[in-house]
Amino acid sequence: MRTTQFPLNTVKETPADAEIASHQLMIRAGLIRKLAAGLYSWLPLGLRVLRKVEKITREEMEKAGALEVLMPALQPAELWQETGRWEQYGPELARLKDRHDRDFCLGPTHEEIITDLARNEIKSYKQLPITYYQVQTKFRDEIRPRFGVMRSREFIMKDAYSFHLDQDSLQATYDVMYQAYTNIFNHLGLKFRAVIADSGSIGGAVSHEFHVLADSGEDAIAFSTESDYAANVEQAAALPPQSLRLSPSEELDKIATPGQKSISEVSEFLGVTPQKILKTLAIIQTVKTAMNEDTEVFWLLYLRGDHELNEVKAHKILGEFRFATDEEIEGKLNCRPGYIGPPVKNSGQVINGLADHSAIAMSDFVCGANDPGFHLKGCNWESDFLIVSIADISERQVADIRKVVEGDPSPDGKGEITLARGIEVGHIFQLGSKYSAAMKAGVINEGGKNQIMLMGCYGIGISRVVAAAIEQNHDDKGIIWPANLAPFQVALCPMNMHKSERLKVASEQLYQDLQAAGIEVLFDDRKVRAGFMFSDMELIGIPHCIIVGDRGLDTGTVEYKGRTAQENIEIPFADIIDFLKAKLV
Ligand code: ATP
Ligand code: MG
Repeated sequence: MRTTQFPLNTVKETPADAEIASHQLMIRAGLIRKLAAGLYSWLPLGLRVLRKVEKITREEMEKAGALEVLMPALQPAELWQETGRWEQYGPELARLKDRHDRDFCLGPTHEEIITDLARNEIKSYKQLPITYYQVQTKFRDEIRPRFGVMRSREFIMKDAYSFHLDQDSLQATYDVMYQAYTNIFNHLGLKFRAVIADSGSIGGAVSHEFHVLADSGEDAIAFSTESDYAANVEQAAALPPQSLRLSPSEELDKIATPGQKSISEVSEFLGVTPQKILKTLAIIQTVKTAMNEDTEVFWLLYLRGDHELNEVKAHKILGEFRFATDEEIEGKLNCRPGYIGPPVKNSGQVINGLADHSAIAMSDFVCGANDPGFHLKGCNWESDFLIVSIADISERQVADIRKVVEGDPSPDGKGEITLARGIEVGHIFQLGSKYSAAMKAGVINEGGKNQIMLMGCYGIGISRVVAAAIEQNHDDKGIIWPANLAPFQVALCPMNMHKSERLKVASEQLYQDLQAAGIEVLFDDRKVRAGFMFSDMELIGIPHCIIVGDRGLDTGTVEYKGRTAQENIEIPFADIIDFLKAKLV
């Protein structure tokens, strides 16, 4: 391509509404343009990158034996009503009516549609297992569309769905897909992790998210320094402390701590580390009565001072809850937040308590005295509080309710936890019979009976991958495309070609030769200054740049510069194609 025929729509100014680097660079490099909140057009340069992600994804899907289909974006409500998701999905589902007043939606995902297709097309167990996939536009009316195509309202997804007779078959395809996803992200040249994800109500380790690692990622992920254990922070288990609890050595003492409310304030005031201070949180749990009415139960949650509550874990144990208001805390404990703690033995108060494993392993600790302006020190669980002895602690009183921190032992026993941030670009899931049972998608089994199929689903956010790749690979000059994503592999930049006929002839010839060698080259034949050309090529992130000039013609050389190299190097004119070919393998 020539820049005179393939305009680069680069812009100097950083767009005001673009918060993160990838969004800014996608606008500045002229890859996308905003139409409205969460809606973007892809310009020719951006589309070349998007198509590369699609191509690599398709290749791996085909290798995995998946069959490509294409399903409508516009979907009738009836199918969504069959699974109950018409009601459940909420405002993210873009709903509309047709001219006959019938309900439709714009598909945010295609489980219902593929299950309908499968129940009509697949009749016998002999046709199983089968995997369908598509690369198609999805619609989600996100509450906060942001970061450009990273979280948009209309985006391109590769979604695949597999159908099986039994769990072994589902697991086998799931493993094949896991490997295909690993191949895709390796091929794209991205640093990524497959992490154990929340499998929701289905249970078991049947879901993995694929995250591109980037500091600006929305998700926190925990992984081991020594094994391939990786999990969403919400999911990462914190093991109970291995070392035994030290036996009590201090007497209980009540001390005035006026105005000292937070862990850090109390820590500084008393000269004790946060590890020695108990953090107490008050929550209100909603439970159903026998009459099926909602009732509220007050709980105190206990954590070690340096730890944070993991709400996902706590919800798994307590179901629905919210944090108590100051008034509710005062009403129950006669004390303001900042000074609350477990009720002491002689207080006559019994309050539901749930302690984290690390909290229960504390001894001689500090906690709120349930008296405004006072804390207790020298506290010990069995001697001072109504919480029962370690021996008869029930599951309900002690559990893993904290977020893992750096340095925690990895749950698989190998190495320590480190934390990183990630961008979710893919998600694979064993759905089981969730949709197939609701929609009665069955086949005739070997015994001649109808049997509900099991399903898996596998998504990649194709458009989000482009943004994530930039988020992971850029510098202050612009995008640094991984080789297989770059819109062009090589930029050919002649200096002042319009003033030199022989340079024009040589550049045109080199352009022809590069193309003939199968190299994707962008020939900058614009009448612009060299500096302008280079900064455009750096901004759009072309990995390799060839600079030709009159001086080089005299000496029979061209200059080569890699996108991130500090220096240009001189290459004999005659060798340049072989030199590039070696770089491009
Ligand atoms: P998120 O938690 O980021 O909202 P999700 O769990 O809703 O993602 P899935 O339903 O698993 O996402 O969709 C599959 C993939 O589609 C995601 O892994 C992500 O890469 C992509 N994706 C989801 N929502 C969006 C969006 N609003 N814009 C761009 N890509 C998206
Ligand atoms: Mg979402």
